[in-house]
Amino acid sequence: MSDSLTRRDFLGAASGLAAGAVLGPAITAKAAPAVHVRPAARNAAVASANGLRAVQKVGELLQQGVDTLDAAIEGVKIQELDPDDTSVGYGGLPNEHGVVQLDASCMHGPSRRAGAVGALEGIKTPSVVAKYVLLYTDHIMLVGEGAKRFALSYGFKEEDLLTDRARERWLHWRANRGPDDDWIDVPREEQMVVEERHGTINCNVVNANGDISSVTTTSGLAWKIPGRVGDSPLIGAGQYTDNDVGAAGSTGRGEANIKVCGAFLTVEFMRRGMSPTDAALETLRRVVATTEPRLKDEQGRPRFDLNFYAVNKRGEFGGAAIWSHRESDDPVERTIRQYAAFNGETAQLYDSAYLYERYPESGQ
Ligand code: ASP
Repeated sequence: MSDSLTRRDFLGAASGLAAGAVLGPAITAKAAPAVHVRPAARNAAVASANGLRAVQKVGELLQQGVDTLDAAIEGVKIQELDPDDTSVGYGGLPNEHGVVQLDASCMHGPSRRAGAVGALEGIKTPSVVAKYVLLYTDHIMLVGEGAKRFALSYGFKEEDLLTDRARERWLHWRANRGPDDDWIDVPREEQMVVEERHGTINCNVVNANGDISSVTTTSGLAWKIPGRVGDSPLIGAGQYTDNDVGAAGSTGRGEANIKVCGAFLTVEFMRRGMSPTDAALETLRRVVATTEPRLKDEQGRPRFDLNFYAVNKRGEFGGAAIWSHRESDDPVERTIRQYAAFNGETAQLYDSAYLYERYPESGQ
C-alpha cells in the first residue's frame, strides 16, 4: 500500500466536504489509483436521512469497541424492525401481489468479505441474513426461497411482514391501478394513493482505527414486479467498502444506480483523492450521462432521484442527491434532501449536495 497523495492534494480534494456545495471541481485524471493510508482519527458513520437513529446507535457501539459491520447492522436493524418505516424490513411496502420482498447487502472491510440476500420473504431483518451469508458461506448472494431456507436454518423466525398500514396502502394502490383493471376506483381526494415509492437505509461506518464497513437494506420499489431486485443487494451498487479507502452506498432509483455500479464508483473516486461529497456528485454525473432519454425532462435532467452517501478512511463523510428537494405536489412535502451522520461526537442531519435545484423560484 502506498500513499501517493500529498497532504496538499488531500486537503484540496477534501475541501468540498461541506454539505450543500452544488457542483464540485471537475475530476482530474490521475495516472494510478491512490489510497489514503492515514486512518480515521475518529469514529464516524453516514446514512440515509432515515438513519439518524442508526448512526446514533453506531456511534455508541463504536465507542464500546464493537466491530464496524456489527455496529452498522445494529443501526439499520432499528429501521428494519420499525413498522412505521414503510421502505425497509417489517412494514415495508409489498410487491404488486401484496408480498413483501426484501433486499440487503453488506461488506466488512477488515476481512474483505461480502454478503447479500435478494427477494427474501418472511424475515424481518435481511441485513442480518446478509451478514450470515458473509460469515458462514463461500458465496456472496442468496435469493428467494433459498435465502429464506438459509435464514430459517439459523433460527430466524418466519413472520408476516405486511403490516396493516402497508396492506392498506397496497390495497389502495391496487384499486387505482387504471381504468381497465377489475377494481373499483377509490377517489384520489381520500388520500389513498401513495406518491413516494422508494425508500431504503444505507449506513457506512469507519472507526478510529480506520476499519470500515457498509450495509444497505430495503423493501425495494413498492408495487414492483415480483422477483424484481434493485441496487441495494448488489455489491458495488447498493453499497461498497474498500478498507484502504472508504465506503459508499445509495438510496433512490436502483435501476439507475446498477448501470454505473455507483457505490463502487464513488469509492474509486475517493481512491483518486476526491472528498466523499465530490465523489458522490461525480457518480451522480455519471448516472445522468447514462440515463436514457425516456427518463429525462426537456432539459436533459433525470426525472427520478438518486442519493449517495460516503465516508473515507479518515472519517470524513458526505452525501449528494440528483435533486435538491423531494418532488411533491404539496409544498409542505418539498423538503430538502438530507442525510444522517455521526461525526465523532453527535448524530445529526446534514443537507445533501446536489446536481440540480428543484423549486428554485419558490424558495422552498
Ligand atoms: N434503491 C432501492 C431500490 O431500487 C429503493 C430505494 O432506495 O428507494 O430497490
